[in-house]
Amino acid sequence: MDYAENILGTIGNTPMVKMNVLTAELPCLVLAKYETFNPGNSVKDRMALQMIEDAEAAGILKPGGTIIEGTSGNTGMGLALAAIIKGYKMVCVISDKQSKEKMDILRAVGSEVVVCPTDVEPDDPRSYYSTSKRLAEETPNSWYVNQYDNPSNCKAHFNSTGPEIWEQTDGKVTHFVVGVGTGGTISGVGSYLKMKNPNVKIWGIDTYGSVFKKYKETGIFDENEIYSYITEGIGEDILPLNVNFSIIDGFTKVTDKDAAVYTRRLAKEEGMFLGNSAGAAVKGLLQLNEEGKFGPDDVVVVLFHDHGSRYVGKMFNDEWMRERGFLDEKVTVAEDLIKS
Ligand code: PMP
Repeated sequence: MDYAENILGTIGNTPMVKMNVLTAELPCLVLAKYETFNPGNSVKDRMALQMIEDAEAAGILKPGGTIIEGTSGNTGMGLALAAIIKGYKMVCVISDKQSKEKMDILRAVGSEVVVCPTDVEPDDPRSYYSTSKRLAEETPNSWYVNQYDNPSNCKAHFNSTGPEIWEQTDGKVTHFVVGVGTGGTISGVGSYLKMKNPNVKIWGIDTYGSVFKKYKETGIFDENEIYSYITEGIGEDILPLNVNFSIIDGFTKVTDKDAAVYTRRLAKEEGMFLGNSAGAAVKGLLQLNEEGKFGPDDVVVVLFHDHGSRYVGKMFNDEWMRERGFLDEKVTVAEDLIKS
């Protein structure tokens, strides 16, 4: 018989899928590391479990404890699944720009959800950074995960995602391209791949409104780079410890509109029903290609973080797209049909 002891045993070993349509103009093989096959439908299950196991081993997460985290949803989902199996309470602190689906999903797996305003400074007491820290201080027997600075985040990808990519490409991977939020994925995978082959190039996908690209290029934390944006999961207004700039070769920034449009195109043209940061990653790949970053013998791996179901009320909703000027095609309304 072949079965997992519980749902946590199904984390990792995700498939790699060739991209055929959207990246056809690239001269090389493009492979997608398809992380929605994880039980929480995102790559974040990997680091959630690693962070919990490391906290248990260090004695900072104790039986019956409460796990508290500021999360855009996917980390919360991973933590919530592990909390169910391991018997912890879960509290997710989330910003109000996150999709309603993400909040509902977190509640569905037993998490308490605390919603905070997006448009406040990180050190504002209402921000989700401050709120999560305060809740952790006030709640007895609780543990504040802090995925931004928790080294187990990066470690999970160094130990599992990186080796899987190396093995699935028979060590032929030449480039790794991925959206960057906490930095855990890019830094863990990037460090592993560069350890195996220092010539592998690591490219981060950033968003307008985030500090990463400018910081990488100038070493300056420029507050003028910070403004609110729509793309979910990537970009930051802080420098998380998990972003290891030294192993990242560079960043490209993708607009909210392009990220949304390419998220829809991935579903329609590749049959890949994925989240918003996947669309950003694909557009980023095309931008990097225009800059001449890829050659015919290259093997480019792009990682897709999460599933499209979390965005049905947003990027996959025509009305939502139209309200933001993201939908260019002419729309046929019933009135036009009657007139013609
Ligand atoms: N995409 C999505 C949808 C995410 O939830 C995250 C995590 N914030 C990322 C990309 C970025 O991953 P990381 O935090 O590992 O940099």
